[in-house]
Amino acid sequence: MAWHPHLWHPITQVARSDAPQRVVKAQGSLLELEDGRALIDAISSWWVTLHGHAEPSIAAAIGRQAQALEQVIFANFSHGPAEQLANRLSAHTGLERLFFSDNGSSAVEVALKMAWQWWRNQGSERRQLIAFEGAYHGDTFGAMAVGDRSVFTEAFEELLFDVTRLPWPATHWGDTSVEEREAAALTALREALQTPTAALIVEPLIQGAAGMRMVRPEFLKAVAEEVQASGALFIADEVMTGFGRTGALFACQRAGIQPDLVALSKGLTGGFLPMAVTMASERIYAGFISESEPTATFFHGHSFTANPLGCAAALASLDLLEANPEAYTGFEARHQPHLEALAQHPKVRGVRCTGTVAAFEVEAGETSYLNPIGKVIQRHCIEQGVYLRPLGNVVYLLPPLCTSDAQLQQCYGALQSCLEQL
Ligand code: PMP
Repeated sequence: MAWHPHLWHPITQVARSDAPQRVVKAQGSLLELEDGRALIDAISSWWVTLHGHAEPSIAAAIGRQAQALEQVIFANFSHGPAEQLANRLSAHTGLERLFFSDNGSSAVEVALKMAWQWWRNQGSERRQLIAFEGAYHGDTFGAMAVGDRSVFTEAFEELLFDVTRLPWPATHWGDTSVEEREAAALTALREALQTPTAALIVEPLIQGAAGMRMVRPEFLKAVAEEVQASGALFIADEVMTGFGRTGALFACQRAGIQPDLVALSKGLTGGFLPMAVTMASERIYAGFISESEPTATFFHGHSFTANPLGCAAALASLDLLEANPEAYTGFEARHQPHLEALAQHPKVRGVRCTGTVAAFEVEAGETSYLNPIGKVIQRHCIEQGVYLRPLGNVVYLLPPLCTSDAQLQQCYGALQSCLEQL
């Protein structure tokens, strides 16, 4: 296919890429291309498609809502779907307040702005923000600033605020023991917390864009304990990990921690509509209420705040998650036998899995963002009917929950045959 004369695709170097394939339909785990081929969407279309494409109950809920109330300004007005969603997500996250936006980056911006202004509203001098090496929190400026520096942020370096950065003790790095690296990271955290700190932000359990780098729940719990004992706020960016991806409804639950702020998007609407929320504790909400001080207000709001179609989709998605938790709690066990077989391959290392997310690295010389090994694997797998999008030399699967055993087998089969040819 040729490049379209009027479109500009995301994160795409046109000079080095093939023109995109046109998708005409999607159903369950399958994308149907214009040329008649079907591909398993093994990365859930950038980690958003939760239950499956065109999931009928979500499509129907959106259709019903569209005929009742499609959109209304959310300052001065409220509506049932937003209120129901707030009730249900509060119960699930343990955070009493829900603030709407439209995408993961914005949900992160909102969390950072809430944390920062909350302290300011109290006249506090806490100014430090802490994040992790390898972090990715989105592409808007605040989200870029707390994300690690990379080719994504290079052009904007001078515009990004400073953040204190801690090592990320991923389980699959074998040079020293994970316990040693966790201890070093916790020591760095304790040192950092000597400086008055507003908040720490983390992708709980799995750093996604950095290459599905996983940490142990025990480490995350220790981080949360240190941060919250110091009085600083703990922000969980569950944009990717939320809604069952890690095998629990939220990664923080799997680690047994209660964050102060949580950013959610992607799977929130089952992956149907662009919607995000930032959940905050009542304590944080209360810090923005003042009759006498107008600057205490949280001056942030998006045109599509609480879009009723998005809310209806999110409610229908929660219905499915609540009715059938085994769909996500049981996924890790489904990956395991395939991963054990892959781990035997001499070119494979760093095999890891958390919930629905499985990843490994392919032995290859160079491992930069533009490393072509990922492209070779992608092309091969597409020929085998499987859509993957490796991150450098990291290959990962993050399939929709409806993916059948036969489809999962097809994904791993494509990878095995690709490895044979490398
Ligand atoms: N945070 C995390 C952890 C993410 O993985 C992403 C997107 N991949 C974002 C934030 C940004 O979300 P969005 O692309 O919807 O802005």
